[in-house]
Amino acid sequence: MAQGRKGKLNYRCPRCLMREIDMDMLFDTDKGEYYCLRCSFFGPEAEVLRLNAQFRTKYLDRTTRITEF
Ligand SMILES: [Zn+2]
Repeated sequence: MAQGRKGKLNYRCPRCLMREIDMDMLFDTDKGEYYCLRCSFFGPEAEVLRLNAQFRTKYLDRTTRITEF
């Protein structure tokens, strides 16, 4: 595997995020993909952004204080 480097932007691993784990990914400059050391996730920036957007929808109400049940 190529030497991991930090990308221009630091993305968190979407797969780890789903499990409530905060894990930064490394960027593989050869493949142009981000990858995670903790799980086996790897993918291009577009895939990371797509999954992050998906993750946000899961917690869409997190900023809303729920006062009525
Ligand atoms: Zn991961």
